[in-house]
Amino acid sequence: MDDKRVLIDLTPEELGDFLKSLGQPAFRAGQLFTWLHKGVAFADMGNLPASLRAQLEETCVDLPMAIQEVHPSKRDDTVKFLFACRDGNIIEGVLMRYRYGYSLCISTQVGCRMGCAFCASTLEGCVRNLSAGEMLSEVLLVNRFLGDRGKVGHVVLMGSGEPLDNYDQVVRFLRLLNEPKGLNISLRNVSLSTCGLVEGIRRLEGEHLPVTLSISLHAPNDEIRRQIMPVARAWPIAQLMEAVRAYVAGTGRRVVFEYALIDGLNSRPTHAHELARLLRGLQCHVNLIPLNYVDERRLRPAAPEAVRAFQQTLEAEHISATVRREMGADIGGACGQLRRSRLHAQT
Ligand code: SAH
Repeated sequence: MDDKRVLIDLTPEELGDFLKSLGQPAFRAGQLFTWLHKGVAFADMGNLPASLRAQLEETCVDLPMAIQEVHPSKRDDTVKFLFACRDGNIIEGVLMRYRYGYSLCISTQVGCRMGCAFCASTLEGCVRNLSAGEMLSEVLLVNRFLGDRGKVGHVVLMGSGEPLDNYDQVVRFLRLLNEPKGLNISLRNVSLSTCGLVEGIRRLEGEHLPVTLSISLHAPNDEIRRQIMPVARAWPIAQLMEAVRAYVAGTGRRVVFEYALIDGLNSRPTHAHELARLLRGLQCHVNLIPLNYVDERRLRPAAPEAVRAFQQTLEAEHISATVRREMGADIGGACGQLRRSRLHAQT
């Protein structure tokens, strides 16, 4: 690949320094930043001098990604996207429409190295981290796709990859997403989902970003969690909960726990009671997910009655819990499924 500079990775200050090094006046930085964050190509940046546009085109990249495939669901408004990176890697994102507007689920890495037993994203390991600008490009490309139908208002970091395993670029991405001259998306409309990297959670608390933290818990105790999530061997639930409590205390934000109900493993009433004990007194919500079946994995989803009973047990114990609506099940809605099917079609 060429060594062109990807400008959308840069903060307004960094962009200013870069333009200064080209002998450009300071006010150009704001203009260029605004264009870049609208997803506009150098050639169409109307208020920049033609000579600068030509120079940027030769030495820099405006948008480091392109939409490769679009898969609208036939059952609901969900749309799955495959994006092509400049180095040929492909990643995926999912657009969902809610009453409050469009929400985009983005990938943070090409693949994932966390090794969760139920997840398709991790089957081939992690190829590389995505840069902040690549994550932003996912949003910009989907905005372009939507056109006058609307804009992405909510972003969830729940696609392929572990956001806290790509900490620096993810935090840079969050700040760029919130830039008034850019997309200006409120971080209150952003959820970051992690399998529970405790050090990362503690660091994130120190950034003072009002994102909603989502913890993929999936088990009420370490014994069960270790069977399906290797990360549980590094960080026991007690340490995870301590970091989560500190995050809630530090940010004042409610935390969400993701819990995929797996037949014969974590979905019995005793597990619901155990989970309620674990979460008691914490400002939180539990998102119950009927497991999405992945061909390569032996794990089966719990029966719908078991899911309902689990929710009712939690509610009876005064833990707020909802069952996540299944969206886009016909288009490989679960993380990593579509990318994986393409990887295998290629071989
Ligand atoms: N690495 C991050 C974010 C990506 S996964 C994390 O672990 O949170 C997004 C969510 O989908 C996580 O809660 C993950 O555990 C869940 N998930 C992955 N595969 C799934 C499957 N087959 N069925 C249901 N949920 C799944």
